[in-house]
Amino acid sequence: MPNRRHLLAGIAAAMTLPLLPMSASGQEKLPVVASFSVLGDFVREVGGERVAVTTLVGPNGDAHVYSPTPADAKSMAAARLIVVNGLKFEGWMTRLIKSSGAKATIATATTGIAPLELKDDDHGKGGHGHDHGGRDPHAWQSVPNAKIYVANIRDALSAADPAGKASYEANAAAYLARLDAVDAEIKAAVARIPADRRKAITSHDAFGYFVKAYGIQFIAPQGVSTEAEASAKDVGRIIRQMKAEKIPAVFLENVTNPRLIEQIARETGAKIGGQLFSDALSDANGPAGTYIQMMKHNISQIEKALGAGPA
Ligand code: ZN
Repeated sequence: MPNRRHLLAGIAAAMTLPLLPMSASGQEKLPVVASFSVLGDFVREVGGERVAVTTLVGPNGDAHVYSPTPADAKSMAAARLIVVNGLKFEGWMTRLIKSSGAKATIATATTGIAPLELKDDDHGKGGHGHDHGGRDPHAWQSVPNAKIYVANIRDALSAADPAGKASYEANAAAYLARLDAVDAEIKAAVARIPADRRKAITSHDAFGYFVKAYGIQFIAPQGVSTEAEASAKDVGRIIRQMKAEKIPAVFLENVTNPRLIEQIARETGAKIGGQLFSDALSDANGPAGTYIQMMKHNISQIEKALGAGPA
């Protein structure tokens, strides 16, 4: 029997070792940081049992205007892989990488997508005139783009943890097939909406890729970032456009203040078609706890609001 003193010394020594997350099979898990909730979900789907994911901007969080915490810096420093959206979505990331001393590989999930270039008009929206790189960052709102994200994450995980390559490939293949099914579902739902009703208002310009992939037109008083408020002029323009084009519905977003959309609904008599999840998932118990749930929830809200003709 080991004496008590040795036992305690052993425990103390064990406790000074870094606490690595372990899988059920007793393997050390690969520590991965994802910048926001959609990426966290993709990493979990592809990584499965082999990875321990930390998501920085959590459920319903706004990654455009996030302030990293000391805990985030710790997660960054411990990570072996950091997954970011890129296209200047996470403006705070460069500084966080530097200040945290992170040594991990950085994988940009949007690598290889065809970015939507913004018109000058989009830049000016909200009156901020910030340079967002001239490209729309919300690429995950099209399922074909999400499939590119997933392939990039699969390759990044395989490079960071070559022993898991077969597992990442199998998980990714299964998940990509589920994404194909969601893509087909969205297309079928859009086809059921009368062509002249395929248009709606949201608060910020987060659905450009959705518009391009699925043919529902979204107009927003606020630009592609939530950083700046919409101006009275932008709101007036939207209200005139809604009346002229008989746009049937406005949608709230989970990451923006509902006030502006409520005002537009009041002034135009348009109905509020519910809440869309744009830049973040809901918490696990909400209607959009995963990317697939988010896309299904959004299209069901859109079909409900736009599908039926005028009452
Ligand atoms: Zn956004």
